[in-house]
Amino acid sequence: MSTPVVEMDGDEMTRVVWRLIKELLIEPYVDLKTEYYDLGLENRNATDDKVTVDAALATRRLGVAVKCATITPNRLRVEEYNLKQMWKSPNGTIRRILDGTVFRAPLTAKGIKSYIQGWTKPIIIARHAYGDIYNCVEDVANEGENAYLLITDKDGNELRRKLVHSFGKGGGICQGVHNTCKSVESFAKSCFSYALSQNLPVWFGAKDTISKIYDHSFKDIFQEVYEKEFRAEFEKRGLYYLYTLIDDVVARAVRSEGGFLWVCKNYDGDVFSDMVATAYGSLGMMTSVLVSPDGVYEYEAAHGTVTRHYYKHLKGEETSTNSVATLFAWTGALKKRGELDNNVPLVNFAAKLEKAAIETIEQGFMTGDLIPLFESKGVTPQKLSTKGFLEKIAEKL
Ligand code: NAP
Ligand code: MG
Repeated sequence: MSTPVVEMDGDEMTRVVWRLIKELLIEPYVDLKTEYYDLGLENRNATDDKVTVDAALATRRLGVAVKCATITPNRLRVEEYNLKQMWKSPNGTIRRILDGTVFRAPLTAKGIKSYIQGWTKPIIIARHAYGDIYNCVEDVANEGENAYLLITDKDGNELRRKLVHSFGKGGGICQGVHNTCKSVESFAKSCFSYALSQNLPVWFGAKDTISKIYDHSFKDIFQEVYEKEFRAEFEKRGLYYLYTLIDDVVARAVRSEGGFLWVCKNYDGDVFSDMVATAYGSLGMMTSVLVSPDGVYEYEAAHGTVTRHYYKHLKGEETSTNSVATLFAWTGALKKRGELDNNVPLVNFAAKLEKAAIETIEQGFMTGDLIPLFESKGVTPQKLSTKGFLEKIAEKL
């Protein structure tokens, strides 16, 4: 390797898996160069979360990062880790700095059947990674208080004011969200470009009938970008762009055979990527990449830190945690680094490692989450431990 990848370590079971992947499958074969940032919760707390910002800035500078799953602290975690404060979601911080779009694709292996019988082709989710509730401002309001949406000029002089609600008995809650035209536009561009790169049609759903300014702007900006820059190429290839209401997209998706890019607003993408990943088999089989408009890539698994398995691991019990998504985060980053640096052996190595992982599963060796999904003539699936599965891949490799 000539250029390092940014390595963001994380928490709990995925931190354990991270170490094993490096030790068993990467370091023996690659002269690995990384710029290491420890995003484990203890170190985020110790650095007042500066480490997360540093890691995101390093990603901007170097272009390619690989990230381990991390804890987003809630009240329980604040107690468990004795935190100075309830630190924000690291992914939120990174996405805010890099902007861009998160693409999530299920990893498929022969024999692993989808819960939704009709889904024979992958559905790739494109999640907008900026704004909405992930950068919201919220507050409680007491009885007799009013909440307003207030727009000022740059000096703070009031321009427009709209009443959100006058709170009565019992008070309530309110939330302010925003997005920027620039971010939505670059989201649209990266979705259409990515769809072309994968030769897929694009489906996008929002709630423009209810949200006549906010969601409607997403719809309008997408349509404009499509007409101006993409329609011709889509039509030439027999692809299409479909906009419809989000609930209609959900209904159509379930009835479909898959094989499209499903564009989601930030929250929808959060929710539906878990649904899609689970439907295709397991959360452990979903990869995720954040692509920024200026061509910066951050690879990760779509799942979390698999807390339940980690507590078992701490008790010395054997675990069977699926490491495939985390492994593909590594191979994705190495492949991209290799492409950018014209490092053919690195690209080839990453591809071989991916192949070895999928073939290991296809030949019946897998982690517990996949066992109930596996059906392949003449192959009896064998459940392996977290480490045992990775060792089996190493053997195959
Ligand atoms: P999770 O870690 O994804 O796990 C939810 C459940 O899904 C697990 O308990 C497990 O089910 C199954 N699962 C997920 N990944 C698996 C894998 N690789 N192999 C086998 N089974 C897997 O989500 P969570 O429990 O909601 O969140 C745990 C922590 O992760 C939280 O602190 C959250 O903040 C954090 N999180 C981080 C990210 C990120 O960094 N990108 C994303 C989401 C959540 P069984 O227990 O039934 O086996
Ligand atoms: Mg989610």
